[in-house]
Amino acid sequence: MIMDPWRPFLEVMRDPLQWARSWKHMTGGKVIGHLLPDVPEEMIHAAGALPLALEGAAVSVSQAQASLPAYTCSHAMGLMEMGLTGQLDFLDGLVIPYVCDTTRNLYHTWSHRFPETRHEFLRLPKRLRHPGARVYLRNELERFGRYLGNITGCFPTAERLSSSLDLYRKSRSRLEEAYSMHRKNPSVWTWERVHMLMASAMKTPREEHLSWMQELPWEGDKDEKSQRPVPVYVRGKIWDPPEITKMLDELGLVVVGDETVCGYRSIASHYQEGDPLDSIVNRLISLPLYPGYHDEPRGVVENFLDRVKQSGARGVIFLNPKFCEAAGFDLPDLQRGLEKEEIPSLVLETSTRGVSLAQIQVRLEAFGEMIGEDLL
Ligand code: SF4
Repeated sequence: MIMDPWRPFLEVMRDPLQWARSWKHMTGGKVIGHLLPDVPEEMIHAAGALPLALEGAAVSVSQAQASLPAYTCSHAMGLMEMGLTGQLDFLDGLVIPYVCDTTRNLYHTWSHRFPETRHEFLRLPKRLRHPGARVYLRNELERFGRYLGNITGCFPTAERLSSSLDLYRKSRSRLEEAYSMHRKNPSVWTWERVHMLMASAMKTPREEHLSWMQELPWEGDKDEKSQRPVPVYVRGKIWDPPEITKMLDELGLVVVGDETVCGYRSIASHYQEGDPLDSIVNRLISLPLYPGYHDEPRGVVENFLDRVKQSGARGVIFLNPKFCEAAGFDLPDLQRGLEKEEIPSLVLETSTRGVSLAQIQVRLEAFGEMIGEDLL
């Protein structure tokens, strides 16, 4: 019997925590969780552990509200809930990056609630384009490497990092191909599937993930089924609720560019040659800015508009996490920029907590009809 080539990815994404727990049980390997975004997974890999990307999407909250304010985004609230309900007790380490006040407070609350766990705060620079950011970030990553080595007993030396970077380079190139397959053949390479590939890459050993990807239908026929694909660009953080990926497919909306942390942002930008730690620093600095980082506002808007125009999208969908101040700050400038360019946009405030899927569906449908009217 021929195995469904999508199945290994589906199995991971059905329950990523359980998958990682079983992997640890079977291999005896170490697992280091990290809250998205921008924790360098390559370094965790080079230190001999499985990097497990964590996001709070789709976690139903019953206990975390006793530890965090109710207006905390789902991304952070979900992590606290997973901690309090014992779902993360198999982790050998946990990394929380400094992105915004919420993640900073989350780290302190975590330290208070779980003083016994080996958690670390990755102090990312807030102004990534500042001339001092490179040196600062490199020093911080060196410190981070020592934290990892103290957990695994294996420090991410330059040699080990180089070999991890080779692997991640191959994996990200393959994922970029998957991304372009979605544009060419969206009925087979649906967005739900392509997103599943990118998200599962951040939760499984990359070597295995890369070998699973070889089995996918790369040579498949050109898409004949798709009726009227409407190209859209998505700016957001996480797919929360995750069902939005499927909705886009069903509505004929094809993602030709995105900035989500487990989407294109996780595979974008290849490393330069040379010192491996410098390569990681340069990659992080060259990524599209995640809300929460600071930059000169005009540059933020112009760079964003360039990316949207290059993608060929007919419209932009903002998936703004509920209670995310950082995303709210950027929004008016970005929308004004899009209006000047006559590019339609739709803002959805999303969260698994208290947001109606049916309402999201109706708004996406209306937006798709508007921007794809002449494609009918
Ligand atoms: S930037 Fe927004 S979504 Fe990300 S952790 Fe902070 S508040 Fe949450």
